Amino acid sequence: MAKGKKQFAVIGLGRFGASVAQYLAKMGYEVLAVDENQERVQDMANVVTHAVSADSTDEEALKALGIRNLDVVVVAIGQDIQASILTTLILKDLGVPRIIVKAQNELHGKVLSKIGADKVVFPERDMGLRVAHHLISPNIIEH
Ligand code: ATP
Repeated sequence: MAKGKKQFAVIGLGRFGASVAQYLAKMGYEVLAVDENQERVQDMANVVTHAVSADSTDEEALKALGIRNLDVVVVAIGQDIQASILTTLILKDLGVPRIIVKAQNELHGKVLSKIGADKVVFPERDMGLRVAHHLISPNIIEH
């Protein structure tokens, strides 16, 4: 991968992960997209720099992908909380400089922070708050 610009990986290509990966690629960044689901990997193949099928709870698989050399890794695994936690732990052990993780709920988020996630995001909760905020914001013109 070319030097200079930040390099990203997105693990888990559900709606959230796919959208993060797509936007980064659109903005000209190199993105490694990873999912254990072959179909989801196929869908991203023409969008990002590299799309690979792998189980992110397999440390050797992540090592082989050279993920430790990337600047930022986004863990966007939703339902499988165990996989999300194990993946984060492995990335931390590998020395990834910045790890951003999507949390399913508050407790999941707490665990992620404790094991060293640099940022924990709650997309559904935050979007709900944003929508509510917009609804009562005085300078919004209603359509
Ligand atoms: P979203 O709301 O963003 O659509 P979600 O919260 O429903 O997603 P899931 O669909 O459960 O999340 O997971 C997102 C993706 O993570 C899926 O495509 C799934 O295949 C992938 N995934 C889950 N576990 C692993 C794993 N161990 N290794 C790689 N990918 C994984």
